[in-house]
Amino acid sequence: MDLRPLGIHPDSSVVVLTGAGISAESGIATFRDSGGLWEQHDVSQVATPEGFAANPDLVWRFYSQRRLQARSVEPNAGHFAVAALERFLGERGRFTLVTQNVDGLHQRAGSRRILPVHGSLFRTRCADIECGKGLGSWEDESLHVDGAPRCPECGGLLRPDIVWFGEYLDPAVESAAREAIADCDLFLAVGTSGAVWPVAGYVDIALARGARTVLVNLEAPANVSRFSEVHLGKSAELLPLLLPGT
Ligand code: NAD
Repeated sequence: MDLRPLGIHPDSSVVVLTGAGISAESGIATFRDSGGLWEQHDVSQVATPEGFAANPDLVWRFYSQRRLQARSVEPNAGHFAVAALERFLGERGRFTLVTQNVDGLHQRAGSRRILPVHGSLFRTRCADIECGKGLGSWEDESLHVDGAPRCPECGGLLRPDIVWFGEYLDPAVESAAREAIADCDLFLAVGTSGAVWPVAGYVDIALARGARTVLVNLEAPANVSRFSEVHLGKSAELLPLLLPGT
């Protein structure tokens, strides 16, 4: 039995949901931070299918900049605490990390059971739906500051494998996330504003199941009333204290 503050039993089933806030202390701006990357760009131009159709070169310049930035920073103590929780639960418990982040920092910190519901900055796919279905997505760290890259198969445009505003989540990833949450004893949300749907509603699945709902966030987000335990502060400071295994 673990005696640290959250008292997580090694047999329990835990889902951790993370958002941009967990990467803030690694130096990656959250979506709503002032002075951040997003403030200098119009979201409708760089993170929507319409923006991509209007100016794919601009979108690739933006994501090349984000790839460069994400590669230049390191996971922080919050990412490592989440990876340690997964090891603590090991074979006895069940663990799923559902992340909205695309930066790859959880993977680099050692997390393994990850459902990246908003895709990955370091994967690319064909923008043509039919061609994309056949090819799938692939790992890609390359930078395209001089123009959008072309598909080796159909010659059409390639795009980052990221779920943009106005797009549906990958149904397989989305249903795996919902299943894990519908079966958890503890739902822990970290660094997310509770404003981006459908992920903002995941806590309701946990509540319907009767799970314990815990929040670690810098400020109280829009859906704070859904959480039975709220810890306000920086995730890199709080998670190592709250979670077992670190
Ligand atoms: P958000 O920017 O809407 O909210 C971030 C939340 O984190 C805020 O509530 C803020 O109070 C909190 N926060 C800030 N610093 C924190 C810290 N040090 N410790 C704990 N909490 C902290 O982010 P979101 O809810 O993830 O939604 C934004 C969307 O943009 C997502 O879809 C995400 O995919 C994308 N995004 C991803 C990244 C990334 O991959 N790192 C970065 C920016 C945006």
